[in-house]
Amino acid sequence: MTKSIFRCIECKIYSLSNGKCPTCGGKTVSPRPARFSIEKSQKYSKYRRMLIKTEQNK
Ligand SMILES: [Zn+2]
Repeated sequence: MTKSIFRCIECKIYSLSNGKCPTCGGKTVSPRPARFSIEKSQKYSKYRRMLIKTEQNK
């Protein structure tokens, strides 16, 4: 079972309701969009490989 959590873009409150914030009625979005996290992890692994190279050259 996957728990989905959303975050209001207006009041920054975490909520389980998709689409509408129960507090202010603002829009809720997933705090970690899949596309963003993939991009970030790819950048990170590239950086990590560079670090490993640097370590080996010591
Ligand atoms: Zn809100």
